[in-house]
Amino acid sequence: MDNKGSSSSNKHIPQLRRQTSEELYEHAKSKENKKKGTAVSLCYEIHSLLRVLWSGKWGVVTPNNLVFGIWRFIPWFRSYRQQDAHEFFNCFIDRVNTELLQESKKHTNLAKKFKENNPRINLNISTKYVEHQHVAKRTFEFAKKTFIGSTRQKVTCSVCKNVSVTDMEFPSLQVNIPLHLQKKQQRQRKKGGKRGSRKGKRGNNKEDDDANKTKIEDCKLEDCIRHLIREEKLEGDAKYACDHCKCHQVATKQVKINALPQILVININRARWDLRGTRHKIKDHVEFPLKNLDLSYACWDDDDIEEEKVLYNLSSIVSHHGGGLDKGHYSALCLDAGDRNTWMHFNDRRWSIEEPEEVESSQAYLLFYEINTNLSSNEIEEYTQQVAKPNRSSDIANIAFV
Ligand SMILES: [Zn+2]
Repeated sequence: MDNKGSSSSNKHIPQLRRQTSEELYEHAKSKENKKKGTAVSLCYEIHSLLRVLWSGKWGVVTPNNLVFGIWRFIPWFRSYRQQDAHEFFNCFIDRVNTELLQESKKHTNLAKKFKENNPRINLNISTKYVEHQHVAKRTFEFAKKTFIGSTRQKVTCSVCKNVSVTDMEFPSLQVNIPLHLQKKQQRQRKKGGKRGSRKGKRGNNKEDDDANKTKIEDCKLEDCIRHLIREEKLEGDAKYACDHCKCHQVATKQVKINALPQILVININRARWDLRGTRHKIKDHVEFPLKNLDLSYACWDDDDIEEEKVLYNLSSIVSHHGGGLDKGHYSALCLDAGDRNTWMHFNDRRWSIEEPEEVESSQAYLLFYEINTNLSSNEIEEYTQQVAKPNRSSDIANIAFV
């Protein structure tokens, strides 16, 4: 896909694929009928773009309509200035969900009015109102289940043991690199330590031997997640206002996951503020698994989560390059949807195939994990071919012939 300037962070927001496209289309086609070919919704533009991409008919696709749609519906991201990929992803998913929710509510109200105006008609029979209501509701629930997870915070009063519960939905799970591990890496770097070269194409035995002598101990993704779910004590000025005791009490607070999405996006927070209020980039490497990410330790085990262990495989990474967070450049590593063992690096107009060792050593900013699926690569290919039939004028607008 051709790069559209500020879309370099956007275009690799991946995995709106397989049945996602079909579901979004159900929402989009009603819009399309009203205003043919114009940027009427992000759902519509996503669907149009995926149809063109999956058709395999064109060497380069320029996502003009999607970018213009983003500018129209999320004006904050208008222009070609540097944008934050994490912030963009959250706004993008929020906008898609808002559109789908509005559509679902609209059709529910239409069906309700139809029933009020036609009390003798049995709504269990298939009418266009009921049909649209079901499609809109199903589409919204599907998108939510795919991308939106939820955390649950529990605050337990140390005196009355009353537990206060607060749920919060997330389109991406933000984790921090624990401060003590940041300092540890800083100390190791000052002592002349280096990150150990992996046995990738850039490494050689001598370098590996030298690096291993002074290798910096990497922080692991699990360290970051365990930091997120650690139990905190609320005391002193931070005492908890207990509704039951009617006064401030010492309490414990803990946040864990209570609903996991199909596609889990993890953002490694790389912003650090100094005492003068200046923002710096944390360049520490964080180790992350390519396969079988197990988050059972980070989930509440008393509700909502199925007992069967949920495992995730990494499908894409967005990395930030450059010294500061307000400037620099994004690139993406994506797993080939057909050949699930090939990693591709997309860097503006350039792309290359990367070894898994190189992927593991990237400085990840966003990690896209897909829940394990039983679909074979052939089934995925077959599906994408089914829905990729570009034939509308708006589809053609996305295409650059080469
Ligand atoms: Zn209490």
